[in-house]
Amino acid sequence: MNQKKLLYAGKAKSVYRTDVKDQLIVEFRDDITAFDGGKKDVLKNKGSYNAEVSAFFFDYLNRNGVKTHFVRMLDPNHMVVCRLDMIPLEVIVRNIAAGSIVRNYPFKEGSKLDPPVIVIDFKDDSRHDPMLNDDLIVALKLTTPAELKKIKKIALEINRLLFRILAKQGIVLIDFKIEFGRQGKAICLGDEISMDSMRLWDKKSGESLDKDVYRFNKGDVMATYNSVTQRITHTAKKAGKTRN
Ligand code: C5P
Repeated sequence: MNQKKLLYAGKAKSVYRTDVKDQLIVEFRDDITAFDGGKKDVLKNKGSYNAEVSAFFFDYLNRNGVKTHFVRMLDPNHMVVCRLDMIPLEVIVRNIAAGSIVRNYPFKEGSKLDPPVIVIDFKDDSRHDPMLNDDLIVALKLTTPAELKKIKKIALEINRLLFRILAKQGIVLIDFKIEFGRQGKAICLGDEISMDSMRLWDKKSGESLDKDVYRFNKGDVMATYNSVTQRITHTAKKAGKTRN
């Protein structure tokens, strides 16, 4: 497979055309940003850790009946994916109150959200990703009501699967953000699932194991990404092979 023209460059990933019909290459770069691009750095190997964890979760989800865009890894930071018609929504699933939900609403940090709370933002940097509701999503023609229902159902199933596999490693899945696209009429998971897009706490110590370490200068970001990648992919590999 040959990498062709750059299609899109985001804050931490670039997407390229290929010479294979309906397949693209996603490059996980070493760029890291936070606070709407207000904090930026380049951290060596960050891209490969996020790619490895994303590939692991995509493979796990595919094997457990969730359709994702993942095809295979080309090298440690290049992933082959199916081309999707992306839906500009950031679907956030929250199990424990943390981050913006604590800043914006009277939730106590660390309190359990049962059932999990789904928040959907409009993926639009120029508008700073405002929060949507079901009526706005349909009025903006971002999805049909049936697609939205399906997206929420898949998001909760992904939450159930990720929560279980991470719990086996002593990691609590606090929240995460995912993005979907269309492949024909089917809704398919795209983008990434990585330390940049999840909030993870160590069950015993409560320590952050994700991008909050970078956002809030909580410690050595790369040491955290390295160790959590080992924890998720190496130890969980066995658990991942079993269906849930
Ligand atoms: O900042 P907030 O608490 O709303 O983030 C919720 C979750 O979604 C976090 O895991 C965060 O890393 C992720 N997120 C993301 N990309 C965004 C916004 C949030 O990956 N643009």
